[in-house]
Amino acid sequence: MSHSPLHEESTLNAERSPLPADAGPSADPPTLQLSAVSRTYRMGDADVHALRGVSLTVRPGEYVAVVGPSGCGKSTLLNLLGAVDRPTGGTVRIRGEDVGAMRDRDATAFRLRNVGFVFQRFYLMPTLTARENVELPMAEAGLRKVERRARALELLSYVGLAVRADHRPAQLSGGEQQRVAIARALANRPALLLADEPTGELDARTGAEIVALFDRLNGDGTTIVVVTHDEKLAHAARRMVRMADGRIVHDGMVQEGHA
Ligand code: ADP
Repeated sequence: MSHSPLHEESTLNAERSPLPADAGPSADPPTLQLSAVSRTYRMGDADVHALRGVSLTVRPGEYVAVVGPSGCGKSTLLNLLGAVDRPTGGTVRIRGEDVGAMRDRDATAFRLRNVGFVFQRFYLMPTLTARENVELPMAEAGLRKVERRARALELLSYVGLAVRADHRPAQLSGGEQQRVAIARALANRPALLLADEPTGELDARTGAEIVALFDRLNGDGTTIVVVTHDEKLAHAARRMVRMADGRIVHDGMVQEGHA
């Protein structure tokens, strides 16, 4: 098996109990399971129905693009998928856990270990080097310095930036900053990578590098859900979920060669 820094066992997830010996991959719970999820925002006297009964299952290893016009509920959905927000109705399960029912502290701890986020605007800490940025979530999870340093360098190497480890974000191009942000998202070996318009700030060529990196990540076993307007990125995914007015209106496999 090829060596990948993404999913091998570490002290970080050593407390996760291993599967029983007779349990095959099919025994894994879905990475995501949404049942009849609604999310309503109260705006003054009016209710905004951002999601109106969304059901969705994403299995380990899937690569899903969520597309749809502005205002259709994509960001609201992504916040629920990442346990950042709670549904008004229905249930959101991540790896079988009902995250909507968790206390805030528990949801935060769960998120740190199970979900990696990549944003349009990178959100790197400007005063920290690339390596230190990648180390941050590992420090929050309590990993020892020597281990987090080694893992950060391994991840930077995976995204092709080992030589930039000591650079600060201002010394990096947009594409390089996004690769650092992707390495940071993978720091705690999340079961799920969520990305919100990850190519939105990048030119076409650099965006294509990020698309290629996501492809490799998924090939190496990372489950990915990406919200995007970028047709190339959407068609690189294996499955496309199209939303309109708070609902899923289409959910199907992406046809090969359609990019
Ligand atoms: P998208 O990401 O597809 O552009 P959003 O999920 O951001 O859509 O928004 C869906 C709907 O919910 C929109 O009508 C938006 O105005 C509304 N909305 C989103 N966030 C809030 C909020 N915090 N408070 C009130 N309304 C919101």
